[in-house]
Amino acid sequence: MTPAVSTTHLAEQFQTAFGRLPDGVWQAPGRVNLIGEHTDYNEGFVLPFAIDKTARVAVGVRPGSAVRLLSTYGDQGLTTADTASLDRRAAKGWTKYPLGVIWSLQQRGIDVPGLDLLLDSDVPLGAGLSSSHAIECAVISALNDITGAGLSPEEMVLATQRAENDFVGAPTGIMDQSASLRGSKGHAVFLDCRDQSVQLVPFEAENAGLVMLVIDTKVSHSHADGGYASRRASCELGAEVLGVRALRDVGPDDLEEASGLLDEVTFRRVRHIVTENDRVLQTVELLGRQGPAAIGGLLDASHASMRDDFEISCAELDLAVETSRANGAIGARMTGGGFGGAAIALTPVTAEQQVRAAVEQAFARAGYTAPDIFTVTPAAGAMRLA
Ligand code: ADP
Ligand code: MG
Repeated sequence: MTPAVSTTHLAEQFQTAFGRLPDGVWQAPGRVNLIGEHTDYNEGFVLPFAIDKTARVAVGVRPGSAVRLLSTYGDQGLTTADTASLDRRAAKGWTKYPLGVIWSLQQRGIDVPGLDLLLDSDVPLGAGLSSSHAIECAVISALNDITGAGLSPEEMVLATQRAENDFVGAPTGIMDQSASLRGSKGHAVFLDCRDQSVQLVPFEAENAGLVMLVIDTKVSHSHADGGYASRRASCELGAEVLGVRALRDVGPDDLEEASGLLDEVTFRRVRHIVTENDRVLQTVELLGRQGPAAIGGLLDASHASMRDDFEISCAELDLAVETSRANGAIGARMTGGGFGGAAIALTPVTAEQQVRAAVEQAFARAGYTAPDIFTVTPAAGAMRLA
């Protein structure tokens, strides 16, 4: 994708739709989480990276309070809303993301004008790559500039979280927005979800002769689902029984004692979070000292923990991970919230074709829907394109 060309094209599409040129074009990427799953709402550590797949929005201010929204995806038609009376129950489909961001800015006392907005995204939907946050982060970047609100990246992260939690109704943390807003080319974003501090960690797989494969299982997941909420509830229960503010405050050395205090299921949920936090720290250290080729074992251990202790994997994800490993990947894990979505496989360039073919064959043999397999590289965070 060459942004200059697609930016011009998007502006032309905007003109065709709305009869005028946009005031600007903004983009924000999806993300892949390298490691650190479900640790975000436990005030722990995550290590996502922004990917080279993005949502772009062309936006034009218009008089009055109407918002007109259009997406190039599918045949969804024009949606009109009113900034003066945003109603989360009335917001439908993808429009709840831009409308949620407008609502969230209003909650901060920011006046949002009437708008025309055209969305174009190549982040796959519902694959665990956060296509929804890509939209929200593109929109908030646009509105931050348009309204002159001057929000910092940290404030934009919290504002998009509020949009997701209180308007869209998805109880998500801050990882996805942080990666999308604060990512950097060639780096992973080491985020401490307690204080929102970020450290950019060099992660250039290609320099180590590796590629990062994403295997989208096409099994749909939904954060609004009971599985996500029940994992959160288990973590809250665990923290309460162990007498800590959040599971972030429990270390690997505390696990033995914790096992005597918690019921069996809650203990395994807690053990996943505690060991996963530790794996994130180890990954950051290994990337710094030895580079991407050293982290395969941590990716594998993360997957096993999610499969066995947190129980958020599924047969398709397990097959993607096992087949990748058996065919040359140096480490693989499911990524994202779980119950479907995508797996990642860190793979030597020389084994890429073998892994792709083997995973496709294994899925066909098992009678699963054909997966979508593609590579991602760590890319820049949200920005204005035009
Ligand atoms: P994820 O964020 O993991 O991709 P979600 O279920 O949170 O999955 O968000 C997917 C939703 O985002 C879709 O159902 C759709 O409403 C919306 N969406 C994403 N990309 C687009 C797009 N290009 N056009 C319209 N809607 C989109
Ligand atoms: Mg999402």
